[in-house]
Amino acid sequence: MIKTKLLSGKEVAASVYADLAGRIDRLSAAGVTPGLAAVLVGNDAASHVYVRNKTKKFAELGLNSETITLGGESAEEEIVQSINGLNSDDRFHGILVQLPLPKSVNASAVLESVDPRKDVDGFHPENVGRLSSGNPRSIPCTPKGVLRILNHYSIGTEGKHAVVVGRSNIVGRPMAMLLSAKSSDGNATVTVCHSRTDDLSTYTKQADIVIASAGSPGLITGKILKEGAVVIDVGINRVEDGSEKGYSLVGDVDADSVDGIAVALTPVPGGVGPMTIAMLVENTVEAAERSLHR
Ligand code: NAD
Repeated sequence: MIKTKLLSGKEVAASVYADLAGRIDRLSAAGVTPGLAAVLVGNDAASHVYVRNKTKKFAELGLNSETITLGGESAEEEIVQSINGLNSDDRFHGILVQLPLPKSVNASAVLESVDPRKDVDGFHPENVGRLSSGNPRSIPCTPKGVLRILNHYSIGTEGKHAVVVGRSNIVGRPMAMLLSAKSSDGNATVTVCHSRTDDLSTYTKQADIVIASAGSPGLITGKILKEGAVVIDVGINRVEDGSEKGYSLVGDVDADSVDGIAVALTPVPGGVGPMTIAMLVENTVEAAERSLHR
């Protein structure tokens, strides 16, 4: 039976922060403290937790961060106006707009109003285009973090078949772009599966690497994997569990059934999640470095 190795995102994130320390010191010597502005619209509880976790990390590292909280009834113009102010505010090298935005707001228009040089989430069409044409600026944090985990644990992608489950602009699509790029980190043959894929298992059974980013608890079981597959669990799903808190967070992978079949698996929590924040910090430090050369 295969021994399934747990790939700790916490461990990889710690090495990212250690690498960033010198860069942050050099910026500080040049009079620059990397800064992030997080725009949070509405009352989505999970979004508030995500933004708090991100800004907490910036504070821990001695970096600037500010959360701009707008009411759920805010008009698109009001949100864009607030972002315009941040675009010209030198304290902030990075701006993130926490998704999802309220349904009444055109999310594309809001994301397009972020200065692409400050778009540390990599969601502006200019940055999406740069990524797809092999000349990336800010790379979306979650898929960037997944590649970093693979790289850290010396899991090569060249010539491998990677199956990405999910096609969102935040995770699935950029993940597929990165894995199929002609680069040292991503050089795989990639299949993208989604909610309209007929018989997911046909594809996952052929996969050397499975990226589970569907937002569906327990979707990926050992039964639909090839022996020896590497499984990256991006999912963060709230499931009711009768505990005092009322819910627990689980991934898209049924970890028990995958044990002994997958050669490696990222746990939830402690896998991809910490890497998303580490990559946000890295992208903001990079944006601050670029600002010195403008
Ligand atoms: P999303 O809802 O925008 O996209 C989900 C995608 O999965 C869609 O493209 C859909 O077609 C596909 N899908 C849904 N059910 C499927 C099924 N049964 N079979 C095949 N494909 C299916 O979600 P998202 O923003 O891409 O996030 C996906 C998951 O990752 C969520 O659980 C989210 O909470 C989590 N997430 C985690 C992090 C992190 O830091 N770990 C970051 C972002 C998102």
